[in-house]
Amino acid sequence: MEIVSRVMDLYAQIDKAVAEFQLKSGLRCPAGCGACCPTADVQVTLLEMLPAARELLRRGEAADWLERLAALPEPGRCLLYAPQPAPEAAGHCSFYRWRPALCRLFGFAAVRGRTGLKALSVCRHIKQADPHGAAAAALLAEEAPCFVHSSTRIYALDPVLGTRLMPINTALRHAIERIGLRQSFANTETFQDNTAA
Ligand code: SF4
Repeated sequence: MEIVSRVMDLYAQIDKAVAEFQLKSGLRCPAGCGACCPTADVQVTLLEMLPAARELLRRGEAADWLERLAALPEPGRCLLYAPQPAPEAAGHCSFYRWRPALCRLFGFAAVRGRTGLKALSVCRHIKQADPHGAAAAALLAEEAPCFVHSSTRIYALDPVLGTRLMPINTALRHAIERIGLRQSFANTETFQDNTAA
């Protein structure tokens, strides 16, 4: 199975774990929130951005996005964030289906402390909107998905591309360049095969 499909498979498993925890804990993002995206320090691996990059290439929008990414200050707000989402959109992420692991877990995952116990990392906007619900969910931390576990699985998919954290826009730019390059190699090989035939 190609790497992007394996990343998307992992995302499906993360989504399932998050949905199960949401059901158990009752924890939810405030409707239409999206406040976690505009911070300038979202850091992900290149591997996590390959699905979004491939989708941009499939739509024929990669060159345009590369130009926009190159013009951005570093680090900066995620370029996939939509301040005014379309009414039918799932939220403020214009690439919601292809968003990285961190964005899937944020607000609903735990970190393991020195004692070995998990502590839920609840987003402050969720805490403000529902302090009692957030406190009750914190008691279920052992059942929450774990950030480190997810990072380990990303690393296991590709120890080179799935290790180094970088600002999200940089990761997207490198992912587009990487997939674009692979695609042009593949096209060149097909062209050579055809001319040789
Ligand atoms: S990828 Fe989507 S969910 Fe993640 S920070 Fe960017 S806009 Fe937000």
